[in-house]
Amino acid sequence: MSLHGSYDPNNLFAKILRGEIPCVKVMEDNVALAFMDIFPQSRGHTLVVPKNVTARNFLELPREKIGPYLERVQRVALAVEEALKPDGLVITQFNGAPAGQTVFHLHFHIIPRYEGEKLAGHGHSNKADTAALEALAAQIAAAL
Ligand code: AMP
Repeated sequence: MSLHGSYDPNNLFAKILRGEIPCVKVMEDNVALAFMDIFPQSRGHTLVVPKNVTARNFLELPREKIGPYLERVQRVALAVEEALKPDGLVITQFNGAPAGQTVFHLHFHIIPRYEGEKLAGHGHSNKADTAALEALAAQIAAAL
């Protein structure tokens, strides 16, 4: 899917936001939902998804929603840092399939980096154990 097109209300993250598909939740308020990536590129890979929007990508996010949403992204990133003590953090997002986007509801990735540990490629990770993700989510949530 290119940068341009219409929002599909049945995309994976829309279903997660509606509770139709489970997720391992880190935090939720009226602006955003944060949950663990089930194919983590590193330990603690977390996604932050804006609520009540039909933005497929960052370019489509209404301007007045940018501040509140990015505030949540930073808040979750700070909690990931405090909980997991990584040596670095990649905070990124992809716009359009040619850029690497696979789910077409805007989301930011928070990907901890640990010195000496290789990063799994985007879209090339194994499915994580749910109990392990739940333990990480609880650690991060406790640091919020
Ligand atoms: P992107 O490729 O940037 O659109 O990111 C989509 C992300 O969603 C990838 O990092 C996937 O590993 C992740 N993902 C796919 N299915 C699920 C799921 N059911 N729950 C949580 N994360 C998922």
